[in-house]
Amino acid sequence: MTVEYVDAHCHLDLYPDHAAVFEECERQRIHTIAVTTTPKAWPHNRDLSANSHYIHAALGLHPQLVAERGQELDLWEAYLPEARYIGEVGLDAGPRFYRSIELQKHIFERILARCKQSEIRLLSVHSVRAVSMALDLVDKHLLSRHTAVILHWFTGSRAEARRAIERGCYFSINAEMLKKESHRKLVATLPIDRILTETDGPFCEHNGRAARPVDIPTVVDLIARTMQLPPMSVAEAVLANFNNIEGFK
Ligand code: MN
Repeated sequence: MTVEYVDAHCHLDLYPDHAAVFEECERQRIHTIAVTTTPKAWPHNRDLSANSHYIHAALGLHPQLVAERGQELDLWEAYLPEARYIGEVGLDAGPRFYRSIELQKHIFERILARCKQSEIRLLSVHSVRAVSMALDLVDKHLLSRHTAVILHWFTGSRAEARRAIERGCYFSINAEMLKKESHRKLVATLPIDRILTETDGPFCEHNGRAARPVDIPTVVDLIARTMQLPPMSVAEAVLANFNNIEGFK
């Protein structure tokens, strides 16, 4: 039996050879959420993924770009009726981006409010130093129970993880975050039915080069080691979680 893998957060359009990466996902049967950082990238990603069973384009406006590109929210809203997947969106309260946090919150709120009125399957949410703030806004906007909130590259506290679990959130885990012991300890406590895998390529590295969706089996192995489970049961759980979000079951 060959298992199908999941890359729940990858910037496919940012690889210099992105057509080859798209083709790899298809060939290796890796369900990939192709997140975008600006709505200007949407038409290209939408068209590339249009005939793909494995690649799903996601409509995003990255919180780290909000200071310069906040006015693109109008464009994001204009494309929303075409989208079923949203990301990368969220909040970044780290030192480099804290200055724009009020604008980030305003934009994330507008995004959440608009998602409530549509058929959105998932949001891939960035929450650097801002998990509680992000969850406050998610709670305030009461998304449909059919819309999954995925905390991508989660680095919050245990209390924040518990709150996210109670809220029904998923966590997409990449290799880079498992390098830190504190993060491994946290991942070990997460319920397997809320785990997804991601590469966050090309921003994460794999063997000295940009990580690609085909590296997901390595991420599965690392999670399996961290959670003390057989790799195949992690891979199967991740696929089941993804199918659950997709509404395939
Ligand atoms: Mn990302």
